[in-house]
Amino acid sequence: MQHYIAPILCLIIILGQVLTLEADTSTCPDIQVTITANDQDDVDIVCEAIQVTLQLTKRYDLEFAPRLDIDVVDRIKALQSSNRFGEFDPVTGKIVVLSSRSCEKAATEWFPFGQQMTRSLHRSLIVHELAHSVADWNFKSAEPGLLAHEYLAYVFQIASMPSDLQNAIFQQISVPGFQQASEINEIYYALNPDYFGVKAYHHFQMAKDRKALFRRLLAGELIPRDSSEDFWIEGID
Ligand SMILES: [Zn+2]
Repeated sequence: MQHYIAPILCLIIILGQVLTLEADTSTCPDIQVTITANDQDDVDIVCEAIQVTLQLTKRYDLEFAPRLDIDVVDRIKALQSSNRFGEFDPVTGKIVVLSSRSCEKAATEWFPFGQQMTRSLHRSLIVHELAHSVADWNFKSAEPGLLAHEYLAYVFQIASMPSDLQNAIFQQISVPGFQQASEINEIYYALNPDYFGVKAYHHFQMAKDRKALFRRLLAGELIPRDSSEDFWIEGID
């Protein structure tokens, strides 16, 4: 693996002081990232998530937003449900994610994909939010829908996981992929987003041309936007 080709800037604000760190970011050559966090471990896991997301972005011929602004927090005020992990604001491009400490606390009553919280799972949750940023940056459709956003975010999230975590999830959530795009609907997503995510991942894996599938998704062709959707007001999980 090649390292230190082009470092990005990880900006940490600790106790009012501004520290700058250069992370190992060989896979983030043209990206500037500002990470605000209280803990070095949180900066590290966010940087890892960025690298993984960038690799997936390149694999599918997508573009990464040239600048990211990520806050790591102990509580996400804007979201009412306690089982929400983070959010992406499409207006500002800002990403907010829970800290490792808060993630561990949340994991005593919330089990994403039915799993105990681990570092890999935590990292994947950050990838999910980063993928929303990727989706937003690459959408050709003027008004992308929630389902198209979530489809890409879940595919990236599950693809970012190590195989043992993927297998544990597929054992826990034993559902086939969507058989056709018309099955991808708001009701299924609203009833259980994790099941939606697993079905989306399997559907994506079955595609003969995955790059083409993402192109169609991002052009608004795979999942037509429902005119009743108003998800930006409610936020993205
Ligand atoms: Zn999401």
